[in-house]
Amino acid sequence: MSIALHGIGVAKGIAIGKAHILVRDQLEISEYCVARELVEDEVRRLDEATVLARQQLRAIREHIPRSTAPDIAAFIDTHVLMLEDTALSQEPARLIRERRCNAEWALRLQRDALVAVFEEMDDPYLRTRKDDVDHVVHRIQRILQNQGPLRHEVPDSRLAGYIIVADDLTPADTVVMQHHGIAAFVTEYGGATSHTAILARSLGIPGIVALHQARRYVREDDVLIVDGGKGVVVLDPDARTLEYYQGLQRQERADLAELGKLKGAPARTEDGIAVILEANIELPKDFETVLTVGATGVGLYRTEYLYMNRPEPPDEGEHFEVYADVLRLLESLPITIRTLDIGADKEMDGHARPGAANPALGLRAVRLCLKEPGLLFLPQLRAILRASALGPVRLLIPMLASLQELHQVLAIIEGIRQELRAASIPFDPNMPIGGMIEVPAAAVCADLFARELDFLSIGTNDLIQYTMAIDRVNDEVSYLYDPLNLGVLRLIKTTIDAAARCHIPVAMCGEMAGDLRYVRLLLGLGLREFSVHPATLLEVKRIVNSTSCGAVATLAAELLNSRSQSEAQELLIAINGCVV
Ligand code: PEP
Ligand code: MG
Repeated sequence: MSIALHGIGVAKGIAIGKAHILVRDQLEISEYCVARELVEDEVRRLDEATVLARQQLRAIREHIPRSTAPDIAAFIDTHVLMLEDTALSQEPARLIRERRCNAEWALRLQRDALVAVFEEMDDPYLRTRKDDVDHVVHRIQRILQNQGPLRHEVPDSRLAGYIIVADDLTPADTVVMQHHGIAAFVTEYGGATSHTAILARSLGIPGIVALHQARRYVREDDVLIVDGGKGVVVLDPDARTLEYYQGLQRQERADLAELGKLKGAPARTEDGIAVILEANIELPKDFETVLTVGATGVGLYRTEYLYMNRPEPPDEGEHFEVYADVLRLLESLPITIRTLDIGADKEMDGHARPGAANPALGLRAVRLCLKEPGLLFLPQLRAILRASALGPVRLLIPMLASLQELHQVLAIIEGIRQELRAASIPFDPNMPIGGMIEVPAAAVCADLFARELDFLSIGTNDLIQYTMAIDRVNDEVSYLYDPLNLGVLRLIKTTIDAAARCHIPVAMCGEMAGDLRYVRLLLGLGLREFSVHPATLLEVKRIVNSTSCGAVATLAAELLNSRSQSEAQELLIAINGCVV
């Protein structure tokens, strides 16, 4: 009889195969006392195990196919670096000497201390980094206890096509799994933001995490279906279920091949309206993907990552070099550089603002930049202006709430232009300046902003949080984070219409733009520029190219007046079914 088990789907795709249960034996770690004269031998035992662990990881790294993105290897490098860090290379040795305990116990103590630090962190992404500590410590402890490498780490083509069911997996496991052609994985623990999940998405291995007690239900060689998109595992599927999923799998493969063909195709609706599809980018290394998916430019470059993990903010020279590099990489595609948006959930070293009870409503983005212009704002603005002499640069101001803020920023920019002119430093005097519409006050007054700006960009991530009065990082109110809320949709419509009346472009760069459920609705509301994560750009293009704006516009207008959530949902279904 088929049984369906549910976890969190972290990497989409359907896999059908036999289960291989990974028994990552719980190592029994106990403390024992080491005789004084044997303490140095114990330290040596630890050192040798660490060296071996490093060799194992390097061997895994060498198995990574050359075609794999460089950041995949970086995950393994992170573990190698952890092994070399004094926290793991010297601190356990100190504990052995101080407590005269065995190497396994010293490692365990140090692991507990490091994990406690990670668990204290507010950032959910950083909290999951404790898994990396566990993976590295576990590897050394296996060696100390003379346990061989795990079966799937041994190059073994017999595991090709298998679905791995494990308590948890390391990024190294995931890379090796791809190398051996493993079809999918299911783990009992782990979160959607773990490195393993991120890797699985990049490597294209369907994956499900947090399927508690999976190993209680699944036995070795059981036939499984993994639907990584939905987070469902079907155990022991009957013939009809199997046939159904085989059909989905065929469909998925055909889909992927079709999608690739869209790279060079223009984004144009069925009724001939050209749509601009750009990419959102965070780190300079992400820029290559902009070209590979055929984006027409970068609609949002979040520069705050340049300011993070360092004691001092970057100076003008550093900003300029980064932007010049990026322009080179983009091969003259236009780029929208957003000025610093730090604060709230994105903190900069030394700039955390203790005592701010609601940091999302506090000194963030342009507010902070205007408060500390010399340190944070001027160097960046000068560099962006200078970079505009090298290629098509647009400047985007985040989190505008009032016209006064805009006027202050425009006055600062004008001052910089005069300085650059006086010093004969080249810049583009017509560099477009745009504003993010992500605070409801700005959306309501979008017409006033549109009169003074060259373009607008709707940041739905914040617009939704501020319109719905919810903190976007607070799980307890995430059910209210609804792009279909009429208040949100009307603000979006107001902004699109205001830009149209002032004949300036308006884009959307929040996550809603890349959410496939809303692409047609947004087209119906009049949006013609989308800036999305590169991984979803081609899927967005496919929807755009199969939509008739005329057909969806009427339904979108009706949706703005729907009297209930269910009516809005029904209209959305009609819009999405509205293929011409
Ligand atoms: C937004 O708010 O939608 C946006 C794109 O900006 P960020 O997610 O960086 O706040
Ligand atoms: Mg924002």
